[in-house]
Amino acid sequence: MRRLSRSCRSPLAQRRPAFTLVEILLVVTIVAILIALLIPGVGQAMRQANNTVCMHNLREIGQALQIYRLESAGWLPNVDVVDDDRVNTWFVKLMPRPLADRTVMACPEDPFKNRWRSLDEKDDPSDWANASSYGLNNFLMRAGDGFLSNVDRHEPSRPMNTLLVADIGPDRHFAPGRGDDGKDKGPPRNASMLQWDDGYDPNYDDEGYPWVTTRHGVGINVLTLGNSVTTARTIDVMRNPIREYYSRCANGGCSICTDLHDVEHYNFSSDQLYWYTGALPSSERETRR
Ligand SMILES: [Zn+2]
Ligand SMILES: [Zn+2]
Repeated sequence: MRRLSRSCRSPLAQRRPAFTLVEILLVVTIVAILIALLIPGVGQAMRQANNTVCMHNLREIGQALQIYRLESAGWLPNVDVVDDDRVNTWFVKLMPRPLADRTVMACPEDPFKNRWRSLDEKDDPSDWANASSYGLNNFLMRAGDGFLSNVDRHEPSRPMNTLLVADIGPDRHFAPGRGDDGKDKGPPRNASMLQWDDGYDPNYDDEGYPWVTTRHGVGINVLTLGNSVTTARTIDVMRNPIREYYSRCANGGCSICTDLHDVEHYNFSSDQLYWYTGALPSSERETRR
């Protein structure tokens, strides 16, 4: 055996094997270290890129909302209840004009983004309503019998610090179900309205997850009424009791804290973002157009 194997060796291999075991192990170790170093970097870069896309989406939505506002004498697009389980939510009114690119309604960090992408124009508007990654400030649209949503007549005192649209959850499944077409319905998102409370919907038997998410690592992206796009840190908000930041919220001129005492609401006072700033109009004798 020994003689045979010796005779099979080429003269080159006899001089020196191409790689020794030690060399191969060394190379494998170096490659493994490089992969380990690179993969977190790749993940980080992906998250960064997705964050940039999300902020771009919000700028596009903001532009569309400002055009709608201009063309509607100051009103923001309302949610219309068509019947018991059908709603036309705000962004339906922005499409296809002034919002031509409807893909901007999907945040790339939304775990249910494919739900939006798989929809087409023929799908039920209620499926649309819950499939967006972004929600419109529900307090602004509902408070004062809805008259706050005329932002020309009732401009908040600090528009750059007032929420308009933001990343919306839940980002986890509850009450999982499939539509008649077998598509994953995903979690309901309050017709893509941004809730100021915990977002729990008593119409659902299962316990809900809050609408607030930490989609972008530690927070969400926010479009303000002043048309700026910024980031709100939500990770603390989700971990701490809902009243934790009330004093800071009131000091920031939050209308819920200063005008409607004892109304529970999430607040993002650490980033100087509020549901509404300035005094709420006390009585309204207005008519909606
Ligand atoms: Zn996002
Ligand atoms: Zn407040």
